[in-house]
Amino acid sequence: MGGSNHRLSSRSRSVDRLEGEGKEMIPFEKCPVCGGELSVKKVEKLLRGGGNTVSLKVDAEVCQHCGERLYSEDVVKSFEEIRLKLRKQEFTQFRPLGQSFTVDEKWPNKAIHPTP
Ligand SMILES: [Zn+2]
Repeated sequence: MGGSNHRLSSRSRSVDRLEGEGKEMIPFEKCPVCGGELSVKKVEKLLRGGGNTVSLKVDAEVCQHCGERLYSEDVVKSFEEIRLKLRKQEFTQFRPLGQSFTVDEKWPNKAIHPTP
């Protein structure tokens, strides 16, 4: 992303701070919605495409205040790939996990509708 001039020759610069345990770059330090604290959590995500659904767990930055979830750029890209595969009925990288249903048209409670 940055246009900083990294030079390979400057590798021997002294490190006066403990260099971390390979921590991922965090795109935001605070929640962009409410300014709350973010913490990394595994969250469940549902992705839909062409009437098919994939559920998965994903590492996300979750706001402790409002619950906003932030995903890294490559995760968002993967979501798009998965949705595209679902639309194209390419299921080779997925495995079946039960069946998904919608309600019948004639469900007695009129407030409940099937998803198309
Ligand atoms: Zn928030």
